[in-house]
Amino acid sequence: MKIQFKNDIVTVFESALYRTTSTVADLGDLVIVTDPNWLPAEVGTIRDHVNRIAGGRPVYLFITHSDYDHIIGCGAFQDTVVVASDALSTNNNKADILAEVLNFDHSFYITRDYPIKYPEVDIKIVKDGQSLRSDRPDLQFFLASGHTEDGAILLLRDQGIIIAGDYLSNIEFPFVYFHLDQYRSTLLKIKEIVLSNKSVRLLIPGHGDTAKSRAEIFERISKDLIYLDLLEMEAVTSKMPTDTANFIESYSSNPSLLAEHVKNVNNVKQMLRKDLSDI
Ligand SMILES: [Zn+2]
Repeated sequence: MKIQFKNDIVTVFESALYRTTSTVADLGDLVIVTDPNWLPAEVGTIRDHVNRIAGGRPVYLFITHSDYDHIIGCGAFQDTVVVASDALSTNNNKADILAEVLNFDHSFYITRDYPIKYPEVDIKIVKDGQSLRSDRPDLQFFLASGHTEDGAILLLRDQGIIIAGDYLSNIEFPFVYFHLDQYRSTLLKIKEIVLSNKSVRLLIPGHGDTAKSRAEIFERISKDLIYLDLLEMEAVTSKMPTDTANFIESYSSNPSLLAEHVKNVNNVKQMLRKDLSDI
């Protein structure tokens, strides 16, 4: 399996599918693995790496959000303490999400040596800045809704690293499945975290390349905010603003992204209609 990035703290594994990342962080007295995915051999590689380095230390499994590609490998990490948002643990669509994993496996005749299961959350993230343990205030979680309702991100404060789930990819524009304004708020929240933690230099997104400088992180935040504005304008006017197609291409020239954009427009139209009906 490709290792996209490695330093003294983190190893960022990259799946062949959708360039999905899984980060293993070695943090002194504990290890945190995030979103192990996709294919059985890839999940096995991540599991072997964790077993090799853990050496009896506690292993935490952080699930950034409930999209099926991010929970697909969690059954391979049975002896871990699972950390995720409270909203992920109470998600009403668990059966649908598991069905997506099973559909994926059935359609490619994939078998796994571990059970397919929805994460059973041991530590629920309920507020911004919540630390993993009282003796590790440097490991902080923040709620991150917008892409989905149940997202969370992890700040390794002393190490200057953010594990961002499906936010701030350089190869995908924002996929707004849940809420447009909350997506914006999450981007601004991450900006605030980076501004107030001068040590942050690395941001690992769920898909694509690790951002390796503060400038690159800020650039990605600005770019995604611009995309959300273009998306909202198109949803309101039913007309694609000039240059939107070029802007989308600056994330990736992959034509299939255009279909995702159309999905986004339809999703946001529905969200705006719902906002209106709530007035
Ligand atoms: Zn996602």
